[in-house]
Amino acid sequence: MAFEGLTERLQNTMRKLRGKGKISENDLRETMREIRLALLEADVNFKVVKDFVKKVSDRASGSDVMEGLNPAQQIVKIVDEELTEMMGEQDVPLNKSERIPTIIMMVGLQGAGKTTTAGKLANRLKTDNNARPLMIAADVYRPAAVDQLVQVGEQIGVPVFERGTDIDPVEIVREGLAQAKADHNDYVLIDTAGRLQIDEQLMDELANIKELANPDEILLTVDAMTGQNAVATAEGFNDKLDVTGIVLTKLDGDTRGGAALSIRAVTGKPIKFVGEGEKMTDLDVFHPDRMASRILG
Ligand code: GDP
Repeated sequence: MAFEGLTERLQNTMRKLRGKGKISENDLRETMREIRLALLEADVNFKVVKDFVKKVSDRASGSDVMEGLNPAQQIVKIVDEELTEMMGEQDVPLNKSERIPTIIMMVGLQGAGKTTTAGKLANRLKTDNNARPLMIAADVYRPAAVDQLVQVGEQIGVPVFERGTDIDPVEIVREGLAQAKADHNDYVLIDTAGRLQIDEQLMDELANIKELANPDEILLTVDAMTGQNAVATAEGFNDKLDVTGIVLTKLDGDTRGGAALSIRAVTGKPIKFVGEGEKMTDLDVFHPDRMASRILG
């Protein structure tokens, strides 16, 4: 379960304030110290923690708040609102093109869950939006990747365009898009190659695919379990490709939550979806406010 440790620590901190008619400066200082440590332990980026603590303590020491009837509740509310703000405040929906097809390019490191997420998203579009997506297998470096996408496609009943692994991925995308046009698919999901870490050659290839496909959405999948590495990866991809959204995968296995809490503030890019399991239905829209409430428990 995500955020286990953080939820417990924040609850303990807030419990100490409960029942106090007034919160002294000392209480507030101690509370902020505990919140700061709890966030750092959850692997939240230190700059993000610093900004967060400043905002919360500025608001909490405002006189209107201190004169409130129940100061502990006020602080919980401020923390809730600022956590929401830190994760993006509003839901940001998937971009949609005015003319079909809407083109979604999936990028991310190997193992982050790109292929699985492409399938989950295609499945979601098909089931919820009655869409007719096509997936393009453009990961030619890992032979198993093409087979994996084909299998996912069969499982969810979504066609996959593939040309094996012997031709240039840009050419595969060109042909795949032509097929989508001919078949009137309303969404195209391009599964691209990943590496174990960011390298120049991969980034150039992805930039070439981006230039050709002119995607409406470049969705970066990052593995939430890798914490601050996920944030660094997101910065790397974003610098090169100017991504439009982030999918945080494996949140089901992430007990700390640092990536979910920092990635928006560090990259400025919204988390659009979260993956919370291996099944094709385990993809949820990301709601910053609900996530904040979940963290506070
Ligand atoms: P890719 O190399 O980025 O295409 O990664 P894959 O899609 O092959 O996923 C790598 C592994 O992560 C697979 O075993 C997936 O089942 C698993 N995976 C992907 N998303 C999630 C998720 O949200 N939760 C869990 N628990 N596993 C996931």
